[in-house]
Amino acid sequence: MRIILLGPPGAGKGTVSGKLKQHDNAAHISTGDILRNAVKAGTALGKEAKAYMDRGDLVPDSLIMGMVEERLKEPDCRIGFIFDGFPRTIPQAEMLDKLLAKLDIKLDAVINLDIPKQVVLDRLTTRRTCSNAACQAIYNVKSMPTKVEGICDKCGQPVIQRSDETEEAILNRLETYNRQTSPLIDYYDQKGMLRSIASLSSEDVVKEAIAALS
Ligand code: AMP
Repeated sequence: MRIILLGPPGAGKGTVSGKLKQHDNAAHISTGDILRNAVKAGTALGKEAKAYMDRGDLVPDSLIMGMVEERLKEPDCRIGFIFDGFPRTIPQAEMLDKLLAKLDIKLDAVINLDIPKQVVLDRLTTRRTCSNAACQAIYNVKSMPTKVEGICDKCGQPVIQRSDETEEAILNRLETYNRQTSPLIDYYDQKGMLRSIASLSSEDVVKEAIAALS
């Protein structure tokens, strides 16, 4: 599959991507994960991106596009890919159209995870993420806690609250989403590529997504 997952922060894009990846081995391309790894590794990209990310603002398009092009050329993307958190703006979507044309790749669909704002707020403030850059498993203190408090079930490293998941940063991320990312829903709808799914349980979303793609 070659798809884009759209939806506000907290809609479950990361969890759904992980499950879809198990279905057909498509590469999971999360620009947020790539950026967090760059921040952790202290690369030039990470240093430039960190302040934007901590505030809940978008990282400039120029930094994102180079990163995406490099990732798309990696061999695992030949099987397929799931974009999670990208594109985030109309200019990014337009640049992606050009990049895909240049690489002779066709998208199958854009899946929009539709979720009420209150559910998003609740999910994000209770979300915890594995601090191990190679793992980044996602938990929730209410609905999906770790077996041992604060320790990742998968790799045994500490599980933390992301620095952009304070209430203030979350509200800013939601506002940023409404202003800059939600116009992509119409953009892809007009191209006839959009499939909207109510994002409640990730299992149901995955079933609906697979049905919509086949
Ligand atoms: P995410 O994990 O997708 O919510 O991304 C976390 C943060 O990384 C966002 O709040 C942005 O600061 C940054 N980010 C991730 N993807 C993008 C993107 N496609 N364009 C701009 N900034 C991004």
